[in-house]
Amino acid sequence: MKDVANAAAPLRIAIVGAGAAGTLVALNVVRRSEPGTTLALTFVDPAEDLVVGAAFSTTDPRHLLNVPAAGMSFDPEDRFDFATWCSDQGMVDADEASYWFAPRREWARYLRQRWQETLAAACDRVTVTHVRRRATGLVPDGTGITVTVEGDEPLQADRAVLATGLPSVGDSWAPRDLAGEPRYVADPWRPGALEALLADDEDVLVVGTGLTMVDVALSALGEAGSGRRVVALSRNGRLPQPHAPAYLGEVVPDVRAWGSTLPEVRAAVHAHVGAVEQLNGDWRPAIDGIRYRVAELWKRLSESDREAFLRDVAGEWGVRRHRIPPASQAALEEHQAAGRLEVRAGKITAVEGTEGGVEVATADGDQLRFGWVVNCTGPRSDVRTLGNPVLDGLLGVGDRTPVAVTDGLGLGLVTRDGQVLGADGDPLPLWTLGALRRGELWESTAIPEIRVQAGEVAAALLAD
Ligand SMILES: Cc1cc2nc3c(=O)[nH]c(=O)nc-3n(C[C@H](O)[C@H](O)[C@H](O)COP(=O)(O)OP(=O)(O)OC[C@H]3O[C@@H](n4cnc5c(N)ncnc54)[C@H](O)[C@@H]3O)c2cc1C
Repeated sequence: MKDVANAAAPLRIAIVGAGAAGTLVALNVVRRSEPGTTLALTFVDPAEDLVVGAAFSTTDPRHLLNVPAAGMSFDPEDRFDFATWCSDQGMVDADEASYWFAPRREWARYLRQRWQETLAAACDRVTVTHVRRRATGLVPDGTGITVTVEGDEPLQADRAVLATGLPSVGDSWAPRDLAGEPRYVADPWRPGALEALLADDEDVLVVGTGLTMVDVALSALGEAGSGRRVVALSRNGRLPQPHAPAYLGEVVPDVRAWGSTLPEVRAAVHAHVGAVEQLNGDWRPAIDGIRYRVAELWKRLSESDREAFLRDVAGEWGVRRHRIPPASQAALEEHQAAGRLEVRAGKITAVEGTEGGVEVATADGDQLRFGWVVNCTGPRSDVRTLGNPVLDGLLGVGDRTPVAVTDGLGLGLVTRDGQVLGADGDPLPLWTLGALRRGELWESTAIPEIRVQAGEVAAALLAD
């Protein structure tokens, strides 16, 4: 392996995926590297700019962070950095900034600014290249790793990071292939996906009632006074819970005696939540405290318990753990009270395109007509089925030889503290973080977790 102290030969690091996670790794690598170290960083991502993945490419100011500003600093050791940045920018009063839910586009601007400042401070010992192409493969070659790129030369690196983020959206609910329907929005996270929908006033069916539905409904309904109606439908009609109006703290439990089976852990969680609720009058500090213990508890569960968790518990956990800001909740309630937004439980049995719209049938026998149908059922969970060429290549999808493997449920890659293990169990010169570590950690998709992982990955990339 390269001696990183040798200033003459730069350490070449390829970062596949330049979203929030990839950018946080790069930022940590530059900040943590010794002044004598030279670095050649290459982002590989078709996106035009950094930090524009599924969550942060939105330009709609109604799309708010679902984590208060105090949880969104790029540096967990400098907790209030983002909150202070927001108040310095004049977006919020300093005394309210830490529990403020900023528009997500502002966080992207913040992270890009911190990245540029970090780069400027490193002067010319760091070179950065952005290859605006999709990566198609990662091939370790004994001394380093080759990144193959769509329509471009392969790229040689000493070490690489795979930060391709949230899996692509799934639509297993759809009664048939809707890909050809002009008024069906299959992936609302794709930049510009809602443009045509926002340009008219037709009614909208949103399939799914989670966080993505909240974004889409608030955009589609726009300012009060629009004549449009939105119906949000899911199997259980369950909405995300709102954050409390003010910060309530976190009660981190001692989980040593919580057992190692799903029934034992569930019982312990219920007891903890009940006790905290009795003491504080609110369940939220209990759930927020458990967040710090999720990885530890997840590790204890057998594969069949994890499967049962995904099937029976993950939905209920998700609506309490990933909450919406009070302002989004108030806007939803206002739209519901005015009859512009209806949230329903149901199952779609048929979808047919008609002249300028879509007819939808439900299992209850309803026949509904909408101008648009938007898929907000969230990401697919099995990374083996995403059709992302870089993952397919790595995992040997098709008849290729696998370089790396996933956990049994396909939730993420098998790693040792983020360093990807080869199919033979040996560590590769490749690290990953975020959604691709869900198999090992479960809660691994939000910035409070990703920023810690980014620091750890950066330290490993710089280590001999
Ligand atoms: C709608 C939404 C709202 C969210 N809100 C919040 C929030 O408020 N707070 C919070 O903490 N978290 C939030 N999250 C979670 C969020 O996913 C993470 O915070 C963060 O965006 C994850 O960053 P990432 O870099 O891992 O993934 P992404 O941001 O998705 O970036 C992945 C990047 O990889 C690139 N890529 C993919 N495949 C390839 C390939 N083959 N070759 C090259 N590049 C590739 C993509 O183009 C993309 O730029 C939200 C998620 C969503 C979907």
